[in-house]
Amino acid sequence: MRIPAVARSLASVFAAAGRQCWLVGGAVRDLHLGRPLTDLDIATDARPEDVSQLFRAVIPTGARHGTVTVLFKGTSFEVTTFRTEERYSDGRRPDRVSFAPSILDDLSRRDFTINAMAWDLVRHRLEDPHAGRADLAARLIRAIGNPDERFNEDGLRPLRACRFAAQLGFTIEASTKEAIPRALGVVARVSAERVRDEIVKILGSPRPSDGFRLMHETGLLALTLPELASGDGLAQGDLHCWDVLTHSLMSCDAAPRDDLVLRLAALLHDVGKPPAVSAAPDGRPTFHGHERLSRSIATAVLERLRFPVAVTRDVAHLIGEHMFNYTEEWSDAAVRRLVARVGEQHIDRLIALRRADHAGMCPGNADAYPQGLALFAAHVRAVLDGAKALTVRELAVDGTDVMDRLGIPAGPAVGTVLAELLEAVLDDPALNERDHLLAIAERVYRERIVPGSRP
Ligand code: ATP
Ligand code: MG
Repeated sequence: MRIPAVARSLASVFAAAGRQCWLVGGAVRDLHLGRPLTDLDIATDARPEDVSQLFRAVIPTGARHGTVTVLFKGTSFEVTTFRTEERYSDGRRPDRVSFAPSILDDLSRRDFTINAMAWDLVRHRLEDPHAGRADLAARLIRAIGNPDERFNEDGLRPLRACRFAAQLGFTIEASTKEAIPRALGVVARVSAERVRDEIVKILGSPRPSDGFRLMHETGLLALTLPELASGDGLAQGDLHCWDVLTHSLMSCDAAPRDDLVLRLAALLHDVGKPPAVSAAPDGRPTFHGHERLSRSIATAVLERLRFPVAVTRDVAHLIGEHMFNYTEEWSDAAVRRLVARVGEQHIDRLIALRRADHAGMCPGNADAYPQGLALFAAHVRAVLDGAKALTVRELAVDGTDVMDRLGIPAGPAVGTVLAELLEAVLDDPALNERDHLLAIAERVYRERIVPGSRP
């Protein structure tokens, strides 16, 4: 195993003090899989107060539960004293944590076999009492011991099972998976923040649909994202091959993996369809105005899951704008108006969302860049490259100029005039010059604001 040198070096400090030092959990799993390590978790027989004596920089992150963070040679380690957890009466946190004599006790409190291996950094050997290596080879997520008991102890674990399956491309072992529907009552008590963190990790995995499908099959989706689950079986017309749920999941897969906002927007862009559905005269389903409903439902979902305000706002905005209907007949002014409304900073994401939406319609679409969208993207580029003002702030005049020229005080009329000037410039960017704009300002003021007045 390619143990990081800094971990060996840390272990030598424990060894010199006669203490054990094991690399545990996700790091051991990921080392076996050849995946990059996210965090380095250490288990030891030393008590937190003893660990604090061994190193200079120790932060008591969870000292009550036996965990301290050690900053060592530029790397941070979570160091936890061997422990067992007793009785989870609320299905969220153990009532009591007791220190345990050996690494084996510590490993048996963990969730899945592949997460319950430990590498002895002092004596260089693996401890794998739950046959995690065999499950890694078989690509299985398997609860340690009795899955019903494991899930009843902590309702987050069923979500973690789906998350690891998506991240690693593994299958959930049959009896572990079958226990999930029986654990939904416990899952329902897990905090929104912990649920959110698992959903975010699923969204960052290669194919989020793997995780969400498992959640759907086991009842977790209906519990945590019922708005999405309700698209199951809802047929769509026209260009669509799939129902709303499958389409949403396929679109999510097609959105860029490193962009949480886009993956969320793709996942939730059609959550307004189930409540918006009605039948056209020919019997086909239509979803008139669904983007506005999708927008407000997605906002409620993300607020409930305590996503950051900025994420919720951007996702909702993209969803609300995703139904624009570009054709080659659109004038430059029409494109400029759309860009002005959407915001220049959001336009690339809106195009990416439409691309993901298209990719999620039918099997053959995944790699296609629809021609209409390519033309739209090029048209956007062209108008953005030209002389431009897409916001009032980019106009060649400001409120003071308008007030001076018209001889009026600050007030709503100034804003109205500026908004009219922007409209004029969106139609014809060549008008964005001081003299032109002030002349237009006079006309607007005379004709629309104070009919008959002569500033
Ligand atoms: P990643 O860091 O990639 O999310 P991980 O396996 O390291 O994956 P962590 O949440 O960092 O997951 O937890 C570290 C280890 O602690 C896990 O590998 C597992 O052994 C144990 N663990 C974490 N959460 C739980 C839980 N809810 N129930 C039981 N054991 C857990
Ligand atoms: Mg980890």
